Amino acid sequence: MNEIGVSEEEIFTLLDNAKKKDFRYQRVLSSMCTYPHEIAVKAHMQFIESNMGDFGLFRGTHEMEKEIILMLGEIYGCSSVEGYLTTGGTESNIQAVRAMRNFSRDKGSYDSSKVRPNIVVPASAHFSFDKISDILDVDVRKADLDNDMKVSVPSMESLIDENTVGLVAIAGSTEFGQVDPIVEISELAISRSLPLHIDAAFGGFILPFLPVKYKFDFSLPGITSIAVDPHKMGLSTIPSGVLLFRDFEYINHLRVHAPYLTVDTQYTLTGTRSGGAVAATYAVMMFLGKKGYTEVVNKCMELTRYLVKKVQSIGIQPAIDPVMNVVTLYVPHPTSLRTRLCREYDWHVSITQNPKALRIVIMPHLDFDIIDMFVDDLEKALKA
Ligand SMILES: *Cc1c(COP(=O)(O)O)cnc(C)c1O
Repeated sequence: MNEIGVSEEEIFTLLDNAKKKDFRYQRVLSSMCTYPHEIAVKAHMQFIESNMGDFGLFRGTHEMEKEIILMLGEIYGCSSVEGYLTTGGTESNIQAVRAMRNFSRDKGSYDSSKVRPNIVVPASAHFSFDKISDILDVDVRKADLDNDMKVSVPSMESLIDENTVGLVAIAGSTEFGQVDPIVEISELAISRSLPLHIDAAFGGFILPFLPVKYKFDFSLPGITSIAVDPHKMGLSTIPSGVLLFRDFEYINHLRVHAPYLTVDTQYTLTGTRSGGAVAATYAVMMFLGKKGYTEVVNKCMELTRYLVKKVQSIGIQPAIDPVMNVVTLYVPHPTSLRTRLCREYDWHVSITQNPKALRIVIMPHLDFDIIDMFVDDLEKALKA
């Protein structure tokens, strides 16, 4: 660190230089994040100092957080909803599994001194579940997928035993954008008296606004918690995730006594939390409304269909028929193609693990011209 600080002008030169090294989203077809809505940015700046870790001091921000939870509860069919804003899907998933584990432990359904509890998740679960296994010391059992990359319910069922503390299903998988058979999984959870967490980190701001209705929310009685990320398709600022519980039963098992604060208990994983992200999420949800999000989703789906048609015309097939704005393509040698697209054409795409396919996420920062340019380069890169 400098002994004496540098001038504002020099700082902004440094910042501008750093910014130049960042990729612009217009060339990024691999991310589930995008430019936040400008309303969200303004709101974030207005509440930049607000700390939700001590929300007794920031009552106005806290009221907005409660409003976000209620708005999402309404969309997801639950008026008794409880929850809070997290840093994203990873934290939401950690806390959901922690609540399940503590619930079973506290009621003595397994002997925590002897056995390691387990959860059953789809093989397509986000890698945050590998962190969860390590942090929470739970065994994460991965159930098989079918040909459409949806989890097999019989496979899930076969992995449940007396030390299972909960189930997880995905509404919009990270790699394929697929939705698991959640109606059946909800029934399985009820028949085995297990909590069921839905990871809708990506899909949560898409599925309610699609013309085809998928059942993935609290209207299914087996679902106990849902993770959804406003900083993905919600167009809010980073870090904005939301963890929702059907009611107080499970979140209560996350309670920790908080000394020195204006509030005496905390249910969150982190202490200090961004009030800016709360304001941003509240502002963009209020501003767009259901109609605004429907337009965002429609645009992304229109671009998704356009991309699929274009690549099919050059002989490339999608791995699954896209449910949402994620396109996975069977191409020869996807790993080296990805590298070539990046090095020679400045496109940032990703690849799926199993089966290997090129993965493209159609976020709101893309348009028809960008898709045209990308497919032209893809064709060239394939010929090379
Ligand atoms: C993005 C994503 C996550 C992780 O969210 P972060 O905000 O990156 O922590 C978890 N689950 C799914 C399905 C996701 O798409």
